[in-house]
Parts: sequence; structure tokens; C-alpha cells
Amino acid sequence: MSSENTYNRKLHIGVLALQGDFEAHLKALREAAATSGIEIEAKAIRLPTQLEDLDGIIIPGGESTTIGKLMVMYGLQEPLKQKVQEGLPTWGTCAGLILLAKETDNGLIGQPLLASMDISVRRNAFGSQRESFETDLSVPVLGKAPFHAFFIRGPVIEGVGPEVETLAKLDDGTIVAVREGHLLGTAFHPEVSGDPRFHDYFLRLVQSVKS
Ligand code: GLN
Repeated sequence: MSSENTYNRKLHIGVLALQGDFEAHLKALREAAATSGIEIEAKAIRLPTQLEDLDGIIIPGGESTTIGKLMVMYGLQEPLKQKVQEGLPTWGTCAGLILLAKETDNGLIGQPLLASMDISVRRNAFGSQRESFETDLSVPVLGKAPFHAFFIRGPVIEGVGPEVETLAKLDDGTIVAVREGHLLGTAFHPEVSGDPRFHDYFLRLVQSVKS
């Protein structure tokens, strides 16, 4: 097989790299790919032209207001929103989940968003006591073993539309991971857990959309 064919088989995965913990996602993607044997090309995305040949994209955690403003400055908001709504597999973590949500609490009125997933979220919803915490989550789509999840001033998902599948909840019933077809959202940070299963799940989602 020619090297060109080998290249074409690879999944091209972008991580929006305007602000936040995009480096950790790039690393986690490469580790998950190495573990599962899925061939990928993972790259940091800062320019609209880089969206062209992507098979999937991750919107990382950070500060949703800052990422939103930078998306506008870099001319990325409209082309990215269009790609996401046309079916590009997209995973938002924490701030990235807020950017993906169709509805957010008042804190984001007037902020640039991608507004594509049928969920409503509330920013910084855990209050000062539990603003940041870690916990073992049951995530049935990842298998039996619990997933150790880091919540870092995360949002909660307060409402989900009829097409949205809940992937994980806290013990008190709060929804913290969701999927709606080609869209994936987590209120926590799987890229820092050292467990490749969520990145692997996203790569398989990308594969299933591509094939
Ligand atoms: N509190 C941040 C926001 O509202 C999200 C925090 C995070 O991504 N870790 O955008």
C-alpha cells in the first residue's frame, strides 16, 4: 500500500487551540490512538482553513467567554459552527461543552457560542465548596470500571432534548456527560485522568461517522 493511502486512512482530529488545555487533549488523543491501534493525525486548530480536512474536533476546557471571543477574532466561529451543524463529530469538554450548548444561563448572554447541541447548561454550577473535585463515575458506554473524573469549575447539564442520550450522572442525578448523534459533551476533564477510554470512545464515534 502506498504511503498516500496510509495517510488517507488516518483520522484527522483537531483540537481547538485558542485557549485552555488543548495540549492535554492532543496528548490524550495520541495515547488513546496508540492503545487502540486507530491511526490518527492530531493537530492544534487556530485557523479556519485548518477545518477543511478534519474528521473530528475537540473543543477543550478553559474559559468559555475567552474561547468565544477568540473564535470571533480568529474568524472561526461561523465556519466551525457550520461544520458542527453539518455533522462534523465534535466533543466539548467543560468550557467546550458550554460553547456547544444551545442554551446557557444568563452569564453568557451576548457571548459568541457554537449553540449546536440540544442541551441547556449552567456555568460554574458547583458553587464554591465543590467548584473543583474528583469522583468515580459510572459511564456504562465505557464498560464496567468507573471513570475517574476531574471537575474543574465545571458546568452542569440542566436539561436535555429528546435526541440526547445521557452517558453519565453524579450520585445526586446531575447529568455530566451526554451524546447527541455526532456530538459528545462532558462537564469534566477526561484529558487529565490518564484513562484513555473517553478519547477512545470519541475516536470510535468519528470512525463510525466517517465510514
Ligand atoms: N468555568 C469555566 C467557564 O465557565 C469552565 C471551566 C473549565 O473549562 N474547566 O467557561
